[in-house]
Amino acid sequence: MLITRFKNEKRLKQAALSMNIEPLFFVPTAKKLEDFLSLAKQRKALAHGIESLHVTLEGPKIPIPQLRELLALSSRKLSDLELVLPKLSKAGWSRLLQGLRLPHLSHIRTNAPHAALSELLLLHPQVQYLSVDSCDRAGRECILEAAPLPALSEMVGPLSCISSVINGRPLTRVSAKLDAGRSGAVAVPDFLRALSTSMAAVTNLQIPFPPRIRGILRHIADAAPALESLVLQETRSPLVRRASERRAWDNTNAWASDLWRMPRLTTLALLTHTSLIPHPGDAQEEERLVQEWVISNGHHHPSLRHLALCYHAGDEGEVISYWDLNDRVWIKAGGHNNANIDVPWLWG
Ligand SMILES: [Zn+2]
Repeated sequence: MLITRFKNEKRLKQAALSMNIEPLFFVPTAKKLEDFLSLAKQRKALAHGIESLHVTLEGPKIPIPQLRELLALSSRKLSDLELVLPKLSKAGWSRLLQGLRLPHLSHIRTNAPHAALSELLLLHPQVQYLSVDSCDRAGRECILEAAPLPALSEMVGPLSCISSVINGRPLTRVSAKLDAGRSGAVAVPDFLRALSTSMAAVTNLQIPFPPRIRGILRHIADAAPALESLVLQETRSPLVRRASERRAWDNTNAWASDLWRMPRLTTLALLTHTSLIPHPGDAQEEERLVQEWVISNGHHHPSLRHLALCYHAGDEGEVISYWDLNDRVWIKAGGHNNANIDVPWLWG
C-alpha cells in the first residue's frame, strides 16, 4: 500500500516536472481542477506561475475547497480572474470568496451575486476591470456602489448596476446590458433614470437602447459629453412589432445636432433592426445619409471619423457598412450584406 502510494507520487512528480509553467490556465471541469492540484502539490511553481485564471464550471457540484486551494496557490501572480459558476448558490459563493486575497488582481469577470462580490472588492481596491452579471436588486441601488474601487476604469454589466457604481469614479469605458422586465421589454423610464447618472469621464460607451426612445442621442450626450466612441445597439422589443415605427434618426436635423453635443466623438456605430435607407446596401443612398448625419447647419462634425451602420440587424437582409473620413471625404471603407456577425465590431 505504502509502496504503491510512493510509486504514484514519484510518477506525479515526474509528470509535474515535465510540464511547462503556463501563465494562462483554464478550468472547464472539476476533474481538470483535481488533476492540476495533485500535480501542483508536487511542484508549486505550476500554480505560482498562473497570471490569468478562467474557471467555468456548469455543473451543480462545485468543489469549493479545491477552488479555494487553487486560488490561494496562484495568488502570487494572478491578475486576471474569470469565475463563472452558474449553478452555485449564494451561500456557496460567500464560502468561495470569503477572505480571499489576491494582491495583484486587476481584472474580474464573474457571475457572482453582487453582495458576495462586493465583499471581495472591499479587499481588492486595485481592481481596474469589472464584468458582472445580472443583479438581484433590480430597481434599487446596486450593492456594488458601496465597494471602494478607486482604480476602476472599465465596467461591463447591467446599466442599472453601472449607474450605481459610476458615481464619482473615474470610469472611462462602459459596456452596458439591459435587464428586460417580465414583458421581455426594457422599461423606458428605468432606462432613462439609469442614463441620467453622470458619466462625465466615460470615453467609450457601448449601450443597448429600446427602439422607442426618440431622444436617445441627446440623453447620452447629456450624460457622457466626453465620448470618443459610441456603439448604439437597438434592442428588439416585443412591443414594437412594426419595423416601420419611427426612430430617433428619422429627424435628421435633431440627430446631427445631437451628435455635435459630443464634440470629441470619433467613432459611432449604430445597430438597428429597421432599414436606414430605401434600398438597403445602396452606396449612394448610404453616402447621402452619412452626409446628413455629419453636417449640422453647414458645419462638419469636429471629430467624427468613423461610422459603422448595421441595419436589418439579425435578419436575412442584414447590411453592415463602414464609412471613414479620408482627406475630408467620406468613403465606404468596407462592409457586407447578409453577413452574420455579432456586434461589437467596434471597440477602441
Ligand atoms: Zn448590481
